[in-house]
Amino acid sequence: MSDAGLEQPLLRAVGVRKRFGDTEVLRGIDLTVSKGKVVCLLGPSGAGKSTFLRCINHLETIDGGQVWVDGEPIGFRLRHGKLYELPEREVAKQRRHIGMVFQRFNLFAHRTVLENVAEGPVRVLGVATGDARREALALLDRVGLAHRADAYPGQLSGGQQQRVAIARSLAMRPKLMLFDEPTSALDPELVGEVLEVMRALAAEDMTMIVVTHEMGFAREVADEVVFMVDGAVVETGPPSQVLAAPRHERTRQFLARVL
Ligand code: ADP
Ligand code: MG
Repeated sequence: MSDAGLEQPLLRAVGVRKRFGDTEVLRGIDLTVSKGKVVCLLGPSGAGKSTFLRCINHLETIDGGQVWVDGEPIGFRLRHGKLYELPEREVAKQRRHIGMVFQRFNLFAHRTVLENVAEGPVRVLGVATGDARREALALLDRVGLAHRADAYPGQLSGGQQQRVAIARSLAMRPKLMLFDEPTSALDPELVGEVLEVMRALAAEDMTMIVVTHEMGFAREVADEVVFMVDGAVVETGPPSQVLAAPRHERTRQFLARVL
């Protein structure tokens, strides 16, 4: 018997709903991601992809449904079978396990690359400075930037800055990595180096949810593709099916535009 059915998923989102004013932006999103899997989230602008990622780590409170990461309900505490809302301080602790990489890298401009990566572990996790710097250097090596450890972000290309941002997220030892169009702000010639780092992460069994318009990446790296429109999932499946033979008209229209 396979043990696949016994292991709890790393992420389980059930019926996630979110409204801004009168607009329902997420209309009941379900998503399950097993440990070590890569899910690519596709869909037109305004579909709710960013909002959904922000709901996963509770940067947005949700109006319905639940999000569980590694068996813990995000934003809540489970006690005697009931869910109690957590204070923000506690939510922040849960959020440490979820790395997030945005379109804009938001590095600290006045800190070196190494300091950017080592800062979180020292300040938030209480790791000793020497250990954090050693680990940061190893992470920079992983993203091919150990030789720029003493540079300042402004001295790096956009692609290099994004690789530092990924290293900085990894320094927090996340269980799950969320990427929100990590290459959309980059010049075309810099996209490849960032995707290469993400590909390597996937190969090392990091669990990842990636919002992207890079169909080549989705085709080659995703275990599952999820296509969202108007706050709902309209189609999901392996990339070989969803990208090559989409069942839904909206998926076909979208792919015709981005491919
Ligand atoms: P996507 O990432 O797929 O482009 P978003 O999640 O950014 O979509 O946005 C989904 C919808 O929610 C859009 O109509 C957007 O205008 C709206 N929206 C997003 N954030 C807010 C907010 N903070 N306040 C009001 N409306 C928002
Ligand atoms: Mg978005």
